[in-house]
Amino acid sequence: MEPTHIEHIGIAVKDLEEAIPFYEKTFGLKCYAVEEVKEQKVKTAFFKVGQTKIELLESTEPDGPIGKFIEKKGPGVHHIAFAVNGIQERLNELEKKDVQLIDKAPRKGAEGLNIAFLHPKSTFGVLTELCEQPKEN
Ligand code: ZN
Repeated sequence: MEPTHIEHIGIAVKDLEEAIPFYEKTFGLKCYAVEEVKEQKVKTAFFKVGQTKIELLESTEPDGPIGKFIEKKGPGVHHIAFAVNGIQERLNELEKKDVQLIDKAPRKGAEGLNIAFLHPKSTFGVLTELCEQPKEN
């Protein structure tokens, strides 16, 4: 399937207001966007490291996916996201290879990307996301 690069690494944090200044002061990275994704019950903050981004994720509700993750495992690396071309075809390919999909069709994620998650049971315990920049019209 040949991902073009690692689009981002998602990191679950308890509090963006604490984590953002840490990333800025400690690593010298600049937070260039904060965005709420309501359907995922998260607030995200983005930093660029070369062509890869760090996506910090704070839960807006205790019962959201990030809230549950932190309750179970504590803060930490939550997922890794590959940039791909032709996301729907890639998902179809993976399904044929018996990879368990969380999303059989892409949906809208932060930054307007089309995204889909693969189940960590199928990917050695790593929640894996595929993303594709939507075609510009
Ligand atoms: Zn992500």
